[in-house]
Amino acid sequence: MEKLEQLYEGKAKKVFKTDDPELLIVDYKDDATAFNGEKKGTIMGKGVVNNRMTNHVFAELEKVGVPTHLVKELSDRETLVKKVSIVPLEVIVRNVAAGSFSKRMGVPEGTQLLCPILEFSYKNDDLGDPFINDDYALALGLATQEEIDTIKAYTRKVNEFLKGYFLNAGMKLIDFKIEFGKTADGTIILADEISPDTCRLWDVETNEKLDKDRFRRDMGNVEEAYNEVFRRLGLA
Ligand code: ADP
Ligand code: UDP
Repeated sequence: MEKLEQLYEGKAKKVFKTDDPELLIVDYKDDATAFNGEKKGTIMGKGVVNNRMTNHVFAELEKVGVPTHLVKELSDRETLVKKVSIVPLEVIVRNVAAGSFSKRMGVPEGTQLLCPILEFSYKNDDLGDPFINDDYALALGLATQEEIDTIKAYTRKVNEFLKGYFLNAGMKLIDFKIEFGKTADGTIILADEISPDTCRLWDVETNEKLDKDRFRRDMGNVEEAYNEVFRRLGLA
């Protein structure tokens, strides 16, 4: 399968058409951004880690009943995926307080939550991905009730799987963001990526951060953290 015209260049990936109208090729870059694009940089080797980790995780999620856009890994940075129209919701799950939740709620980072929180942001860069609820999504036609129900059920399954998967590799899953899309026939599937760009992962013993917060907060050893996650998952 060959890359044809570039459809889109995002902050972390490029998306290309192929000769099959239902398939796309995603090409993962080393570019990193934070704070809605205000902070820019490069994380050497990130594209390889995020591509291969996403594909590995998506293949595992398929086995536990979560359909995904994964078709085939083509190279270290490139993957053939099913084309979807992305549901414009960032679906966030929190197991432990961190980031914007800690700020908004005045709860120190690292506080265990009594149950997982599933929340939505409206995927809109111009607005800075504002926090919304189900009624906003329904009222604005971002998704139907049925789609929201499907997305929530899959998301809970993703969280249950990922918590154990990362714990096995010595990491706590603090929170993460996923995106869903609709195929031509309206089926909801998991799309985009699951990587240290989109998950907060802390070492289970030391709470050392092994994710994009090292870049966001200028903590150093950013590449090392991405490589460490890759290695712990047995992918290196
Ligand atoms: P951003 O758009 O936030 O800068 P990326 O650089 O990761 O993000 O760009 C990838 C884009 O491709 C995202 O907008 C994402 O929603 C979209 N995308 C991911 N998977 C698919 C897919 N299977 N079909 C169509 N678009 C997808
Ligand atoms: N996240 C993401 N993309 C975004 C916003 C958040 O992947 O545009 C992830 C982030 O890495 C974290 C989780 O979603 O794992 C929750 O992020 P939060 O709302 O705390 O926002 P942040 O502190 O990253 O601004």
